[in-house]
Amino acid sequence: MIASHLVVPADIQVSWSDIAGLDTVIQELRESVVLPVQHKDLFKRSKLWQAPKGVLLHGPPGCGKTLIAKATAKEAGMRFINLDVAILTDKWYGESQKLTSAVFSLAEKIQPCIIFIDEIDSFLRSRNLNDHEATAMMKTQFMMLWDGLSTNSNATVIVMGATNRPQDLDKAIVRRMPAQFHIGLPSEVQRRDILQLILQSEEISGDVDLNRLAKLTNGFSGSDLREMCRNASVFRMRQLIGAGSLPTLDRNSVNITMDDLLSSHLKI
Ligand code: ATP
Repeated sequence: MIASHLVVPADIQVSWSDIAGLDTVIQELRESVVLPVQHKDLFKRSKLWQAPKGVLLHGPPGCGKTLIAKATAKEAGMRFINLDVAILTDKWYGESQKLTSAVFSLAEKIQPCIIFIDEIDSFLRSRNLNDHEATAMMKTQFMMLWDGLSTNSNATVIVMGATNRPQDLDKAIVRRMPAQFHIGLPSEVQRRDILQLILQSEEISGDVDLNRLAKLTNGFSGSDLREMCRNASVFRMRQLIGAGSLPTLDRNSVNITMDDLLSSHLKI
């Protein structure tokens, strides 16, 4: 079951070049994770500069946390286990305990490896008195297995968590994630860069003004920008189909126009 959530680096479809506007985060991840994994022998000489066992990515939905996690694995040549929290929490305690151990032992076997946990707060949130005993035990077991990773200094396994609600995370978990990155809503400049990246492989007309679109899209996430461009492209194609002009495609008529993007932006 876990194997179906495992991806080898060659099959990861995302790399740094698919991410716009997050150069600082990428640079820090390159230094803290990618280089120590790629040059393990060199970095072994320093106890002060090792890849962290835990990385936390936090910020609003749709801003690139999953993209960053996958691209880090790709760039570092690490395998990637996308741990679906629902699988762990839906099982009976005995089952989820076995699954949790299986995840960690698989990760060590196939290392270097990233265990990615989206919405990590839903699984490892602050302990409280209302916690079901089984839930509390599962968290303790998870932390023990995680700590066990550091005793095997040869294995490079990183737990990378993503959350929109970092404040809900158990403090003990946060301590285990020394590398933390906020991935917030993109600024105007970042929105421009994201739009440019999304539209670079599309056919667009000369009137498309990315600076103006970036100004108009305050509050949009990267995911919203992508959706805006997708809608504009769908709209253009529908126009062509409606006009019956598909068989005689004029090259310019397929181009996404500024008007297409402006009307699409109002629908997000
Ligand atoms: P969630 O919290 O909902 O899981 P997330 O922060 O993990 O969201 P992603 O799944 O990484 O967000 O991003 C969703 C989509 O939005 C990406 O597949 C991509 O198309 C687009 N996107 C988001 N941010 C960026 C970015 N910085 N550069 C390029 N594309 C982006």
